[in-house]
Amino acid sequence: MAHYLITGGAGFIGSHLAEALLGLEHRVTVIDNLSTGRFENIAPLTDHSQFHFAIDTITNEVVMDRLVSECDVVLHLAAAVGVELIIKDPVNVIETNILGTHSVLKVANRYRKKVLVASTSEIYGKSDQIPFREDDDRVLGTTTVARWSYSSSKAVDEFLALAYYRQKYLPVVIFRLFNTVGPRQTGRYGMVVPRFVRQALAGDSLTVYGDGSQARCFLHVKDAVRAIVALAGCPEAVGEVFNVGATEEITILGLAQRVLALVDNVQGKADGRIRLVPYEEAYEAGFEDMRRRVPDTSKIRQYVGWEPERSLDEILTDVIGYSLAAA
Ligand code: UDP
Repeated sequence: MAHYLITGGAGFIGSHLAEALLGLEHRVTVIDNLSTGRFENIAPLTDHSQFHFAIDTITNEVVMDRLVSECDVVLHLAAAVGVELIIKDPVNVIETNILGTHSVLKVANRYRKKVLVASTSEIYGKSDQIPFREDDDRVLGTTTVARWSYSSSKAVDEFLALAYYRQKYLPVVIFRLFNTVGPRQTGRYGMVVPRFVRQALAGDSLTVYGDGSQARCFLHVKDAVRAIVALAGCPEAVGEVFNVGATEEITILGLAQRVLALVDNVQGKADGRIRLVPYEEAYEAGFEDMRRRVPDTSKIRQYVGWEPERSLDEILTDVIGYSLAAA
């Protein structure tokens, strides 16, 4: 059994990952500064004898030095997330992503520990390629549009991780998560599924940005976790980059309608409405959205046999159940 250190382990994805690894009888240590992560996410794990938790930032080298020296594998998920946060707090987003990953890689290299680095489909930018393959070109806008700073900061993380691999032979694996959703995700930083579910359950209008014809593929967080665990245990994955995402595509307008239909089933009321909100009102003037974002997942399938198992309806039903229980 291995000892995993999860940075950002109190976050939405990190906490599901911690739970899954404990279920597989591994030992788990989480470091999280609770900036966007929440203690409630890991509270049920704190009684587990193989679970440890440090409230701290990953740029605290003294703490990271000890935690990394004690673990076998680092799963680096700590990052600033959410398109809204990028617009509202760009300094923090850029610094957290670049300096945080730099700190993790430096310490991991000191102890020669394997690191899996969480990246994002934002990397591909506004390329209209369908689907995105790991080695496709990135298409980014100008530096005056804040959104591209997030894509660029995660790209620097990838460059740095691959540089440590090539130059210092540090075992690194990069996984690019596409729109991952599920219980515990908060809509506070703009994520569309928890927002729509909350709005629908409250009887409010669902805020569809633009005309709603932009499309996404939504992956259940438990499927994402299976992918990360499989990659962590695959020696051939070292030095490689993998897309992790669902391939069932839906427009955001279609998503709003699907959420309303499912919530009406649960609550027996059909008064949900949809409100189209212009992008410049939702974000900022000049905001650029991605029209479509579909992953090519043949590489991860080839390496570890991974495929998503849960449909969009299962994802939405889970999120609705979670929101009802939390209310
Ligand atoms: N979106 C929306 N209404 C909301 C929040 C988001 O229509 O209240 C749209 C957003 O503009 C994007 C899609 O939903 O086209 C997915 O947004 P999210 O922030 O969840 O992820 P992204 O794909 O942008 O990283």
